[in-house]
Amino acid sequence: MTFRVGTYSVTRIEEMLTPGFLPAFLFPQFDPSVLDEQAQLRSARFWHAESGKVMSSMHSWLIRDGRHTILIDTGCGNAKTRALPVFQRFHRLDLPYLDRLAAAGVKPDDVTLVICTHLHIDHVGWNTVLEAGAWRPTFPNARYVFGKREFDHWRSPAGLAGFPENGPVIEDSVMPVVEAGQAEFVGDTARILDGLELEPAPGHTAGQLMVKLTSGRDTAVFPGDTLHQPMQVYRPEWNSRFCEQAETARATRRRVLDYCADRGALLMPAHFGAPHCGRIRRSSAGYDFAPADELPH
Ligand SMILES: [Zn+2]
Repeated sequence: MTFRVGTYSVTRIEEMLTPGFLPAFLFPQFDPSVLDEQAQLRSARFWHAESGKVMSSMHSWLIRDGRHTILIDTGCGNAKTRALPVFQRFHRLDLPYLDRLAAAGVKPDDVTLVICTHLHIDHVGWNTVLEAGAWRPTFPNARYVFGKREFDHWRSPAGLAGFPENGPVIEDSVMPVVEAGQAEFVGDTARILDGLELEPAPGHTAGQLMVKLTSGRDTAVFPGDTLHQPMQVYRPEWNSRFCEQAETARATRRRVLDYCADRGALLMPAHFGAPHCGRIRRSSAGYDFAPADELPH
């Protein structure tokens, strides 16, 4: 599915779409009343009834304008050892992500820019591929944009101590890019291209960035893991168990929802079920989520 944002096209490149976590595990504040209030949250696109788990997508957003070929976030990657039970879904994958990218008309050599909103396990995986026993950048001609604050966090003993499971991820999916000289570190705000800007979106991780794409009258927001599931549109106070800074994460979530509602921006998150993006409306109770395929385009 491709969406148009002014002169840019935005295409989802799927890595996997599977049942994810039990909602009470993912959201420590989970209360099933949200499922009764909002029938769409129980639809098969967002909810796997058999297991009682939320549907979880892993994908990249591919942005093109004829000159630039940009990937936002890169999923989990193939062949990576992720043996911990909580990351079982990501362990030694063998998925046709690059074939799907090719089906969209993009070869690894064509990618000019990779942006990782943050450096968690499921956002950096396809940064690298295994070649002759070593991890190499998947996209040899791309510059890879990482937040300096985020990178420094994961390279510091104190930062890593908060989530040691992410250590091997940095080693196999981030450091090979740095060592190849393809990493570009940016501050909390950065203008990457005309209409493509990075802004701070802290809370889920301290250094998370979000991407804003503006062209003509259209805007799309790529908020990383500011929201994991559409149910958080209706319960913006719910953090995931992986959010580092609880109050900051809540404030960022509300800021993103307010911005999308005020601006009519397309919200393009990292893990929502189909159609994987949508618009935010204000409602008497707070916010409402309108999946993008239900809108005239
Ligand atoms: Zn994620």
